[in-house]
Amino acid sequence: MITVTGARKNYGSFAALDDVSIHIPSGSLTALLGPSGSGKSTLLRSIAGLESLDSGTVVIGGNDVTDISPQKRDIGFVFQHYAAFKHMTVRDNVAFGLKIRKRPKPEIDKKVNELLEIVGLDGFQHRYPAQLSGGQRQRMALARALAVDPKVLLLDEPFGALDAKVRTDLRTWLRRLHDEVHVTTVLVTHDQEEALDVADRIAVLNKGRIEQIGEPEDLYDRPHNDFVMSFLGSVA
Ligand code: ATP
Ligand code: MG
Repeated sequence: MITVTGARKNYGSFAALDDVSIHIPSGSLTALLGPSGSGKSTLLRSIAGLESLDSGTVVIGGNDVTDISPQKRDIGFVFQHYAAFKHMTVRDNVAFGLKIRKRPKPEIDKKVNELLEIVGLDGFQHRYPAQLSGGQRQRMALARALAVDPKVLLLDEPFGALDAKVRTDLRTWLRRLHDEVHVTTVLVTHDQEEALDVADRIAVLNKGRIEQIGEPEDLYDRPHNDFVMSFLGSVA
C-alpha cells in the first residue's frame, strides 16, 4: 500500500536517506528501527509527503504522494511531543478534524464516543490536556489522528518522552488498537524491544540506508550483517 523506491535526501553533501526502498503492506504495523540520526524521521516525513526528496518516489494507494493534495492524503501523524489544542477539552480535540470537515453533529458524537472508548479516555473527555498524564495525552493524540479514518497512521516515537513502565503499557495497548482498527501503521522507534514486541515487520536503518527488512523473529534469528546483529542484540 505504501511503496518507497530509491529515496534520496541530501542535506548539503550529507545523505540523510541514501537510496531507500521499502514496501509497506496494507494493514501492517511496520517499525522503522535505528539509532539516532539514521534517517527514521526523514523517511517518515517523506512518506507523509512533508519532505521533498532529491530523487525517488513515495506511492500511497497507487498515487505519488506529492500528487495528492495535503488535505486528501488521509494520513494521521503523531509526534513524540504531541501538539494539542490546550484551550479545548479532550473531547473537542478528538472531534476537531471532523468538525473542520463539517460532518453532521450526530456522526461526530458517535465517532468521538467510540474513539474515546477505544483509547480508554471516556472518563476524561471533559478534561483539558494539561489535566492529563503524558500517556493519556499520547492516547488522546492517537484518537485525534484516527478520528478522520486515515488510510495511514504515522507515529514518530510517540512514547519517547514517557517513562519505561508507561511505554511498555502503551506499546501493548498500541498492538491491541492495531488489531482492532487495522490501519496501515508505521512506527518510528530507536527502542529494539518496542519494535520486536509490537511490529509485524521491522526495517532496520543505519546511516540513511535500510540494512534489513523482515519479521521480528527473522531479524533476530537471521541478521544479515554485523550491524543488525549488534543492534538487535542490545535488547536488555
Ligand atoms: P532520532 O532518533 O535522533 O530522531 P532519526 O533517525 O529520526 O534520529 P533524522 O531526523 O531522520 O534521524 O535525521 C537523519 C540525519 O539527517 C541526521 O544526521 C540529521 O542531523 C540530518 N538532518 C535532519 N534534518 C536536517 C536538516 N533540516 N538539516 C540538516 N541536516 C538534517
Ligand atoms: Mg527522529
